[in-house]
Amino acid sequence: MALNKEQQNNSEIEKVKCLIIGSGPAGYTAAIYASRANLSPVLYEGMEPGGQLTTTTEVENFPGYPEGVTGPVMMEDLKKQAARFETDIRFGLATAADLSKRPFKITIDGSKVIEAESLIIATGATAKYLGLESEEKFKGQGVSACATCDGFFYKGKDVAVVGGGDTAAEEATYLAGICSKVYLIIRKDHMRASKVMVERVMNTPNIEVLFEHTTKEIVGDMSGVTGVILTNSKGEEVKKDIHGFFVAIGHKPNSDIFKDYIDTDEVGYIITQNGNSKTKVDGVFACGDVMDSHYRQAITAAGSGCKAAMDAERFLGSLQ
Ligand code: NDP
Repeated sequence: MALNKEQQNNSEIEKVKCLIIGSGPAGYTAAIYASRANLSPVLYEGMEPGGQLTTTTEVENFPGYPEGVTGPVMMEDLKKQAARFETDIRFGLATAADLSKRPFKITIDGSKVIEAESLIIATGATAKYLGLESEEKFKGQGVSACATCDGFFYKGKDVAVVGGGDTAAEEATYLAGICSKVYLIIRKDHMRASKVMVERVMNTPNIEVLFEHTTKEIVGDMSGVTGVILTNSKGEEVKKDIHGFFVAIGHKPNSDIFKDYIDTDEVGYIITQNGNSKTKVDGVFACGDVMDSHYRQAITAAGSGCKAAMDAERFLGSLQ
């Protein structure tokens, strides 16, 4: 006899003790800790397996890699480490969540439902880009959304940062300490960044602020980015020779499907309790860039993934 819709839905339901959503450094670190604590975690990789690090080239600031490592290789290493302890790693995207009561119901790819006793949200944040074809073409070859990660590769060279907020101001001043010249491209006639950051930018001699300029095209060759073509307020084209193009126009935390149940700030970053990973729903934990608008580093994400797994373990232990 054919199953009715409800039976069909029920047949798709799977129960797990600890569900981890996201496969960046936070998700995999949570998986390593959770699996070693016998929580039999199931991890869904999400839309971008490996997370944002897969879009960078060299990672030189993650402790333990004295010679550096590429982002994709590091993420593959983390995945292997999680798999070694038998984390069940699956391809799939969480598309809906019901956190109103335990077990939490998470829908994967719009159909399969997982019932989870505990949930670790490690869905990360997505850097916003301008949306230019040339920007896409040179991603990882001169175009970056993280100065702390990639700035060092442009030591002594000229670079540009686009954006007028605190992130752009911070990235521009950081890069000014490494690079010979930094062009800060701002579409308005003023910066949105805090007063102190604006002053810092204005007082840094090797930052040239280009107000009322927009990016038309990033140009380059086989070696990567070689320049940027801007349009000024008079509609004129301006070309600057640069080797690095840093996009700092904001991030979007991937928290939309959880917002009805847990607190987020106005941008969408999940709010956790001071110093740990607990959200306002008992049994739901958040780690990595989805709850951290400030540090946004692989190592800080990994650290918070460890905290989330330990918090989940304690939570599950308290139920027994
Ligand atoms: P913001 O949203 O504050 O700023 C984004 C900037 O990018 C704005 O100047 C915006 O321009 C510009 N922008 C957006 N889209 C485009 C586009 N398509 N083309 C050109 N420019 C564009 O993001 P941030 O990441 O800077 O900051 C996010 C939050 O984090 C803020 O609350 C910030 O204060 C905080 N933060 C705090 C720090 C600190 O305290 N040390 C450090 C970093 C961030 P426009 O102004 O015209 O809209």
